[in-house]
Amino acid sequence: MSFVVPTWELPSLPVAGSADRFPVRRIYCIGRNYAAHAREMGADERDPPFFFMKPADAIVQNGSIVPYPVATEDYHYEGELVAAIGKGGVNISVEDANDHVYGYGVGLDMTRRDLQMVARNMGRPWDMGKGFDQSAPCSEIYPASSIGHPAGGAIWLTVNGETKQTGDIADMIWNTPESISYLSGLVRLEPGDLIFTGTPEGVGAVVTGDAIVVHVDGVCDLTIKIG
Ligand code: MN
Repeated sequence: MSFVVPTWELPSLPVAGSADRFPVRRIYCIGRNYAAHAREMGADERDPPFFFMKPADAIVQNGSIVPYPVATEDYHYEGELVAAIGKGGVNISVEDANDHVYGYGVGLDMTRRDLQMVARNMGRPWDMGKGFDQSAPCSEIYPASSIGHPAGGAIWLTVNGETKQTGDIADMIWNTPESISYLSGLVRLEPGDLIFTGTPEGVGAVVTGDAIVVHVDGVCDLTIKIG
């Protein structure tokens, strides 16, 4: 048996401290997941999380130059903690969710904001605003066996050295185990799935020549340049 068109390389990310790589199966992203104000307790007052996707081959390696994308004049960064699923499952409980995570990385949910806003305002899918070519830069994956499961710590993003986003991953409206639990009630999670967990306040546009650094305490830095 052979394939009738050329096959492609499996998208993957380096594993920190190893020659092995993490294969990328699907990329799930959580919509707005940080509140500008202090999080209120009262869980039943929170809107349920919502998700969108990017193609697996939208992955861009740490340190890359990313071409300014076509079809936009408002190309935005969103710095995010990324959870990498190591063990699949459906209807995963919040208590068990960490057992399904292989490790963590730092990602950028790059967004054609103009296209996303048109889609949102017209009640259309976000795919062309979110799931375009090279829209998912992501760092190497740090195994949870080495760094644990980050539940708090600074997340920040700079453009050309100027701070644009600052937050704390403890301020997520839905924390990582809750997001995994909720998502696994919608689809069966599989090894290789990535979950981009949402971005704090301060998103904005970049142009050709800009350098972006995203940092999450206890994980690492992700650095890309717009070329
Ligand atoms: Mn995002």
